[in-house]
Formats: sequence, C-alpha cells, structure tokens
Amino acid sequence: MAKLNVINDFEKLSDLEREQNIIDKEPFRHLKISDAQVLNTIEGREACARCYKSRKFFCYSCYLPVISDEYFPRIKLPIKIDIIKHAREIDGKSTAIHAAILAPEDVRIYTYPDFPEILNKEETVLIFPSQAGMTVDSLCIKEMNQDGKRVAYKIQDTFPIKRAIFIDSTWHQTKAIYKDQRLRDLRCVILKSRISQFWRHQKKSPRWYLATIEAIHQFLVELHTCAFGTVPEYATTNNNEGNCIENSIGQSKNKLPDTDQRYRGQYDDLLYFFKYMYEKIHTVYDHDKLWAYKRPLR
Ligand SMILES: [Zn+2]
Repeated sequence: MAKLNVINDFEKLSDLEREQNIIDKEPFRHLKISDAQVLNTIEGREACARCYKSRKFFCYSCYLPVISDEYFPRIKLPIKIDIIKHAREIDGKSTAIHAAILAPEDVRIYTYPDFPEILNKEETVLIFPSQAGMTVDSLCIKEMNQDGKRVAYKIQDTFPIKRAIFIDSTWHQTKAIYKDQRLRDLRCVILKSRISQFWRHQKKSPRWYLATIEAIHQFLVELHTCAFGTVPEYATTNNNEGNCIENSIGQSKNKLPDTDQRYRGQYDDLLYFFKYMYEKIHTVYDHDKLWAYKRPLR
C-alpha cells in the first residue's frame, strides 16, 4: 500500500495561500448546499423533546432536532460515521452534531471513553493527520500477489470501506484519544489539506485543522470521487465560473440517470448549518477582525 508523506502537502504552501484568498471570498460557492434562508423564519427557541432544555435548531446534548423536518435536509451517507468526542469538549461549540442531525441514520456520536464497537478492522478507518497516515486515494488501491509478483489494482465502482471514525475535540485532546489502544490497529487516513472556515478560534491549532463537519464532508467527497469519479460540472474552488447552486430542501440534485454514480454534490448538504452559521457570524463580525482566521498557516 503506497503511503504518502503528510509533509508533501506543506510544500504547496503558496498554492494554499492563493487558494485561501479565493476560498475566503466565497467559501461555499462551488458546493451544492440547500438554501437555508428558511432558518431565518424560526424565532426564539424550542424545548428539546427529550431533556426539555431550550434550544435553537437542535439539542446538542441529545443530538436531536428541535425544529421539524421541513427546515433542514436529510442526507443518506454511503458508509457509517462514528464520532468520538472528548467529555470536556463543550457540546454547544462542536460541529459534530450537524452530522448527527443531517444524516441521522448513518452517524453516531460517542463521548470518550465510550467507544464505537469496531467489528471489522479491515473495513474501518480512523481519520487522523498521522505521519503514518494514508491518503483516501491509496485506500482504493489493493495489492495482490500474482505469479509471485506484487500487483496493484484500483478498486472502482464500490466503496473500499464501510465505516470511518472521527475524533471531535480540541487538537490537544484529540492526540490523547488517538493514543487509545482500541484505535491502534486501524488504518489511519489523512485528508487532502483544505483550509478551515471554522470561525471559532482554536488555540495553537493549525488553520487547516478542520471543523469536524468539514472533515466528514471532505472525507466523503474524496472517498466518493476515488470510487466513482466526479461529474465535470461539479466545479472546483479554482473554477471562477462556478455558480453557487442553491436547492430548496428536498429538491433532487440528481438530473443524471440513477446508474451514474459520479459525485455531483450528494453530501454537500452536510455543511447546511455550517454555511448558515458562517454567513450569520460574518454579518456580525468583520471577516478580517475574526481571530480564527489569523492563525498562521504553518
Ligand atoms: Zn435535549
């Protein structure tokens, strides 16, 4: 299995910085995220059906929505996602909840030391920026022994794994969970670097340390693209002609035949609340004054 060095990405710093300027202006322009204006019509807070606490949109203690279905999209994911969060992480600040609300069938959140049961280590990966980590692309390569020779095959038209585990906590706490014995035997996957849009200042964390919901989205896009490819119309951040396509909730993004499984934004709605909150906070604070964006790139 080919292992790429995480350091390789750091050398592209000037490219990253250039990309950052584009991203900072309109960070979600190339994504297909449902229009969240409807959230503006919700006034005040609702009581959570389970704990009765007063919440806006969803209960971050119970991982349940407090608004009805028509206010947000639901997404079916191709694999199961387990999120392990640190007990000391403040629930209200985590973006992991977004995944549990938007993809309730496929996402589970555990509070450390609670842990997901790992039944099949071959089909489970841990997303963590380890030096020994492998890329998503190399997940899709299988080496086989053929006539005494090692031959590499690309796995295509199927997902190479069934489950991915994410750690949701500050960078410091994440390292502690990473050392847990139960994660030792899992293959570690590193994401292609993408500069974080997370507005919450995290002390001493590099700026590309993604918010959990950004990391889940990025991982699923990479995984899907690796297995099935991407439709050409799904623009990249570098495409200046990219139109921000906003769908109303529940509207099909699927204008291609069902047999065409290429990526065309199927998981972009994972950033539904994230984009909404990003835009809200930027109407209140001047972008250049937000601390979180002042983090050094290195
Ligand atoms: Zn609750």
